[in-house]
Amino acid sequence: MHRETMIQQLTSTPEWDICIIGGGATGLGTAVDATTRGFKTILFDQHDFAKGTSSRSTKLVHGGVRYLQQGNIKLVLEALKERGLLINNAPHLVHNQKFIVPNYKWWEGPFYGIGLKIYDWMAGKLGLGPSEFLSREETLQLAPTLDPEGLRGGIVYHDGQFDDARLAIDLAQTAASHNGVLLNYFPVTGILKANKKVCGVRVKDVFTRNEYEVKSKVVINATGVFTDIVMNMDNPKHRQIVTTSQGIHLVVDKEFLPGDTAIMIPRTDDGRVLFAVPWHNKIVLGTTDTPMKPTDVASLLEPRPLKEEVDFILKHIGHYLSKDPDRSDIRSMFAGLRPLVKESSKRTASLSREHLISLADSGLITITGGKWTTYRRMAEDVVNFAIEKNKWEKKTCMTAQLRLFGNDQPAMPPDIFNLKSHELKDAIKRSVSREMCMTTEDFLARRTRSLLLDAKAAIEHAPVVSSLMAAEMNKDDSWIKEQTENFKLTANNYLPN
Ligand SMILES: Cc1cc2nc3c(=O)[nH]c(=O)nc-3n(C[C@H](O)[C@H](O)[C@H](O)COP(=O)(O)OP(=O)(O)OC[C@H]3O[C@@H](n4cnc5c(N)ncnc54)[C@H](O)[C@@H]3O)c2cc1C
Repeated sequence: MHRETMIQQLTSTPEWDICIIGGGATGLGTAVDATTRGFKTILFDQHDFAKGTSSRSTKLVHGGVRYLQQGNIKLVLEALKERGLLINNAPHLVHNQKFIVPNYKWWEGPFYGIGLKIYDWMAGKLGLGPSEFLSREETLQLAPTLDPEGLRGGIVYHDGQFDDARLAIDLAQTAASHNGVLLNYFPVTGILKANKKVCGVRVKDVFTRNEYEVKSKVVINATGVFTDIVMNMDNPKHRQIVTTSQGIHLVVDKEFLPGDTAIMIPRTDDGRVLFAVPWHNKIVLGTTDTPMKPTDVASLLEPRPLKEEVDFILKHIGHYLSKDPDRSDIRSMFAGLRPLVKESSKRTASLSREHLISLADSGLITITGGKWTTYRRMAEDVVNFAIEKNKWEKKTCMTAQLRLFGNDQPAMPPDIFNLKSHELKDAIKRSVSREMCMTTEDFLARRTRSLLLDAKAAIEHAPVVSSLMAAEMNKDDSWIKEQTENFKLTANNYLPN
């Protein structure tokens, strides 16, 4: 993917079939679906691809054991099917992850055991392995740092795990390889209309400040927690459809959970599921569910963990581990905002994780809600919707069996901390020349996951990364200084204080 080539295509194409606003899981998935059906497709993100919620997930490709507890059978069935398809289509990114549900009370074994058998059964042929009851000894063998006091046994089950930002980049590459045009750092600033009907968007290149009017037969708003802001551009009187809930994660060293098995705590004090999951040689702990009302773009793009959220995770995970992590053990922490489709219920933990497609009077299509796991299905649904709405000739969705880009590429290192200098140069060269990596943050937060794995170390490496990027991008010393400073400012939010 080359940004300059993409901009040339933007200017030389008089009209697009489908224009997508938002380059997170939903928008990128929609771009893959639309391009592989042969539609002339363009996508814009105001920042980097997956800068929003889509790089801040728990990194699970899952049916959602919690949704099963809530009795949301439809969502679990759909997500389990998607889990199976994604593991087939992106085997380089999604792997089979073993989880243990530790049992400290007599009823937990039979209760969760039966639930997880139902989960296996619902996955059918796309299952990742049967759940099993474990003795106390077997449980401790798989998760030796579980608190042994009062432990009765455990249940092991399987779900998928992935790297969210990397999947986002590979989706962008997949769409680009099917002639899609995808542009990061290109905010949509207005909706174009003819006879009160949407006919395109106004966009602005963040770097050159050039503005463009882009004509398109269909415009799809896939902007997650920004959904209402974009709907407002279309109709300032629209009814708000999204509410936000924040979830945070803490990243700690592997010593807190050595081995490959993750832990799932099905029920914390406030009825949440808590995970401790091995990820890129660290452990990700999370998450929370805090209703939020951020209003400005900056806090929607870079939400910050609240002190009480950090305390909540440390306290609850401490109940289950033989050694309790404390603040000084946190290598990084990150917050994400869930775009939840509004319902009458006031508690966000019970708001809908299902997706919603809506059509404005102007013809603007909005898709929101859902989860990373179901991005493909969301994309299929919204492109089908666009076809029907426009009475276009039917074109079959191609993505259920579509191998995603990246299967035959060397894996990008998850972090840069132990790379030799030529390896770091290669990773930067690849990111800049082929993955539209534009800033030091893009490289350290999303092309690699250095910032999420160790924020302090990432800050220390920012000057060298900025210099190497500058050499690759023909930038001067002031760019290096600015990039390093900007990165530090952002990365400070990932440090415990
Ligand atoms: C804490 C947490 C944990 C989660 N864990 C999981 C998990 O383990 N598994 C799972 O399946 N799901 C998980 N999810 C859900 C999943 O991450 C989200 O459903 C998904 O990432 C939402 O993607 P999206 O594309 O709709 O939104 P986003 O990723 O937010 O993308 C929207 C994009 O729109 C762009 N945008 C906004 N306005 C404009 C504009 N005017 N012009 C151009 N671009 C614009 C933004 O910059 C952003 O990149 C989790 C969510 C959270 C918050």
